[in-house]
Amino acid sequence: MSYCRLCQKDRVLRNSHIVPEFLYGELYNNKHQLMGIHGRGSKGCEVQQKGLREYLFCDDCEQHFNECFEKPFRRAWVENCPLLDPWEAEDVYWIHVDYKSFKLFHLSVLFRAGVSSLPTFAQVSLGPHEERLRRMLWEQDAGPVELYPIFGYAVIHHKTKRVVQMVSKAQANKFGGRRCYGFMYGGVQWWIGVASDTNHELQKVSLRCDGQMPFTAVPWNEVSVVQEASHVLRKGGI
Ligand SMILES: [Zn+2]
Repeated sequence: MSYCRLCQKDRVLRNSHIVPEFLYGELYNNKHQLMGIHGRGSKGCEVQQKGLREYLFCDDCEQHFNECFEKPFRRAWVENCPLLDPWEAEDVYWIHVDYKSFKLFHLSVLFRAGVSSLPTFAQVSLGPHEERLRRMLWEQDAGPVELYPIFGYAVIHHKTKRVVQMVSKAQANKFGGRRCYGFMYGGVQWWIGVASDTNHELQKVSLRCDGQMPFTAVPWNEVSVVQEASHVLRKGGI
């Protein structure tokens, strides 16, 4: 028995994913192994059979994550992929999603990363946002647009323009002076702002309450975390 980080009860904990397993699907190579991207660690590169896991949540809470956040995102983003692939568009391309389930999915990844003690997610330090996010996920409350704004850009190969599928370590950055946490999965580098501000420029590029979200594409060799990952993979001989 141990303390579940979502319901906060003493329960038997499951070995939980931080980023859901289905987002690693296209990363399996022909040996059916996964190229895990850890950044520049002492080992350089580690090949894993599955995504990173940690004992964090009870069975009921895992079901809650799965039914409320992961299944809708998997259907909307992975099975009916709305990204252009290849991405030839020069201009901003708008994608329509379900505001509530889409936003809650990304917040669930951020929350999992925040409560994780794994080095891959060490950049994420939520402080008082951890409890706020926990409540929002528990109550399935996506909050208003200015609270935890989400924006992102598709990551594409510089020549083929095909969308690059990769799961990255967590990143922390500042946009317009606001702290944001970043994750790459589902062909997109996502950023979530952890401060709310009703008049901030981030909102112009973020998910809107009607579910509209603007996307552009950035070549993989201009995305620092992908460059770092490819360097690690080369070092590891993959
Ligand atoms: Zn629980």
